[in-house]
Amino acid sequence: MVAQHQSPPSANQNPSSSSSKRAYHVGGISVEFPYQPYGTQLAFMGRVISTLERAQREGHCHALLESPTGTGKSLSLLCSTLAWQQTQKLKNQYANLTLSEPDPEAMIYPNPIIGHGGGFVPETKPSRNLLAGVTESTSQAAPSSKAQQMKLAPTIFYASRTHSQISQVVREYRKTGYRVPMAILASRKRYCTNETVNRSGNIDEKCKLLTKNPEGGCSYFKNVEKLKDHASLQKGGCHEVHDIEDLVKVGNVVEGCPYYAARLMAEKAQLVFCPYSYVINPIVRRAMDIDIQGAILVLDEAHNIEDIARDAVSVDLNEDALQKLQTELRQVCSGDAMIYQPLYKMTQDLLSWMERKKSKLEMREFQQFYSCWTGDQALRELQEANITQLSFPILLDCAQKVLHQRLNIGFDCFCLAASQQYLFSSCFFL
Ligand code: SF4
Repeated sequence: MVAQHQSPPSANQNPSSSSSKRAYHVGGISVEFPYQPYGTQLAFMGRVISTLERAQREGHCHALLESPTGTGKSLSLLCSTLAWQQTQKLKNQYANLTLSEPDPEAMIYPNPIIGHGGGFVPETKPSRNLLAGVTESTSQAAPSSKAQQMKLAPTIFYASRTHSQISQVVREYRKTGYRVPMAILASRKRYCTNETVNRSGNIDEKCKLLTKNPEGGCSYFKNVEKLKDHASLQKGGCHEVHDIEDLVKVGNVVEGCPYYAARLMAEKAQLVFCPYSYVINPIVRRAMDIDIQGAILVLDEAHNIEDIARDAVSVDLNEDALQKLQTELRQVCSGDAMIYQPLYKMTQDLLSWMERKKSKLEMREFQQFYSCWTGDQALRELQEANITQLSFPILLDCAQKVLHQRLNIGFDCFCLAASQQYLFSSCFFL
């Protein structure tokens, strides 16, 4: 299944002895690898490629790959996924070249590949009719829009646990011969170049307020395109492969916002590095407008993923926070009882439920009690707090309206404080 293109690797060859571009035949495609690969690396890459091939045939596929520390996992992952992506692009470019005139049906019905977010859809052979229409036209070869780019190959999302791990992977990417449009998604805290906002402590809220105001807003925000299009970040530029720090540096030079530039770059990127939460947490994904439908998702150090996934759909609610929320809800109820009254009742029900359960919980540490429930048991517990399949949609609707009010009216309106609204967005995953 794994065949080598050049001389076979030997166990005593040192992978750190870098050489010029070397291509190896792995899983039926050519993979550039910067070093003489070990047999285990070839096997690893073979698995990645066969998984991608299967995903292409069947619509989706997963692989759980394990390899000891220091065996070049990240490099193998990058080289194999990028090689496969490149092969797909070439295949699709060729297929596009062979399509002479626009297919009238394709103009009526969306392209199935675009319709799936440009990713994994079962492979379909070009029909004879399509092949019959070959002309010299090459106008469709160059992708100009995101949809066209997506059509050529799925985007790779490479997710790691921490920003320092992302920096390490970017260093590995630098070693490869592959260069595709890239982006690193990270928080405002990492990227923000506005010193006043940075000093304020609440970077997210301050930034959202400033960017709402086109006149007196953040001057860095106005230069975001200038940063995104900066020559050093383009093909062949010294920061074509860049780290968070590199983007911040260029951002400071052109006085453009690296946070929004990274988000813009991610729209067209074929390789996106990000922390896990950007692909796992539905709230973050929605807020960042990340579409992973049909993408190649690489979760590095995936042994952490169970905890991360659990955290992403969990919420911590303590009695104090609920009591504060209840007090605020009581104050705003007169403003719009239709929205706030059901939420007020929910907090009341949850507080009473907590009170009833206290004595039945096991003590973990001082004033901390816990219990473990299966999914079914947890649902029954929620029902006891009057959160049922019937009431939940109503509560969700009210919570959505609360958040909507803030977005439309602003922070100074007669509504809940931002911290309480944040509590709602976490509880209802909005
Ligand atoms: S727009 Fe960018 S630079 Fe300005 S406050 Fe927001 S994150 Fe900071």
